[in-house]
Amino acid sequence: MTERLYYTDSFLHQFEARVTAVSSELGAVTITLDRSAFYPTSGGQVFDTGTLEVAGGASPLHVKDVTENEQTGEVLHIVEGEVQALRPGAAVRGTIDAERRRDHMQQHSGQHVLSAAFEKLYNLPTVSFHMGDESCTIDLATEAVSAKQLQAAEKLANEVIVEDRPVEIRFATPEEARTMGVRKIPPAEREKLRLIDIQDFDLNACGGTHVRSTGQIGGILLRRTEKVRQGVRVELVCGLRAAATARRDFETLTEAAALFSTHIWEVTLQVRKSLEEIKSAQKAQHRQLEEIAELQAQSMLQSAEDRGAYKLVVQFFPERDLSFIKMLAQKLVRCGTAVALLGCGGAQPSLVFGQAAGLNNDMGALMKETVQRLGTRGGGTCDMAQGGAPDAASAEDAVRQATSKVG
Ligand SMILES: [Zn+2]
Repeated sequence: MTERLYYTDSFLHQFEARVTAVSSELGAVTITLDRSAFYPTSGGQVFDTGTLEVAGGASPLHVKDVTENEQTGEVLHIVEGEVQALRPGAAVRGTIDAERRRDHMQQHSGQHVLSAAFEKLYNLPTVSFHMGDESCTIDLATEAVSAKQLQAAEKLANEVIVEDRPVEIRFATPEEARTMGVRKIPPAEREKLRLIDIQDFDLNACGGTHVRSTGQIGGILLRRTEKVRQGVRVELVCGLRAAATARRDFETLTEAAALFSTHIWEVTLQVRKSLEEIKSAQKAQHRQLEEIAELQAQSMLQSAEDRGAYKLVVQFFPERDLSFIKMLAQKLVRCGTAVALLGCGGAQPSLVFGQAAGLNNDMGALMKETVQRLGTRGGGTCDMAQGGAPDAASAEDAVRQATSKVG
């Protein structure tokens, strides 16, 4: 069993230890030590990184991952580098990445404060905690959390942070812990529980690394929430991460505000205004296209080939799109007894075949036959069908070919 030095001192960044085992599997070398300050991934908190140096050894070994063997209680250091000098019994000096550790302590301690705030204010228990590279999440056992509740919990958590309350590590038996009113007692049977005591605010069983006083958390910023199976997931960032996240948000908002030549607080108003303008411009454009289609249909019908029972309209529009030729086909078959074979180029070359109600062709079948030949997809009813074409030239060609197929 590895003596876990971080258990009693989260600020210990360097330590001396002896190698107890070295194993090599699948190209990864795992070192076990008699004592270690490296935190192994567990309880929602991710591992420390750093180096192991052997006296008289070559360059330091990089510790790229740390896990634990729950059965034996050993901390496993997965390293890369020259490991020849590492034998059981060898003395090593371990150094953990202090910046990464501080970040983890800020996130994890901030989570304790936030979970306690939700519990105190709304009796919402935290059922899980996850630490990611960018942000952390807690899952609250509840159906919903309102924006007002989020703001209140964030405010209380930040108040506790600025009050700079001492954070102490205590050890107690599970029975003692129960009488002390510990927030969450782990199900696993252990002789002694490690408790994190945030003075007069929270007492919780936890094996992670924490700050010495809440002021070191720096601050807490809640982000989005999401409904998950076990409740509501709340995203949070603490300390320097909160500042970095707020900085990124500010830069994004500043860029958006510059695009609208406005203040960042007016961005929503401007976006809403622009969306309304776009919507009404689209409506106006649609009305104009309808008018153009109407006029075009009338003029096309006048010059169309008269086949006795109907007028045949055949046309390819290199610059138009599918929505326009669909509109046009509908006008053509509504304005007169017509068969319309239309095609368009544009970004998405397409075909539309239509006929006035009561005529005897099957436009759906004709379209199926055409797209099969073109290797695209399409179909429709007897009177109106649409399909795709691989390119403008084959769309134009398909329209011409279809003329011989209508009776
Ligand atoms: Zn913790």
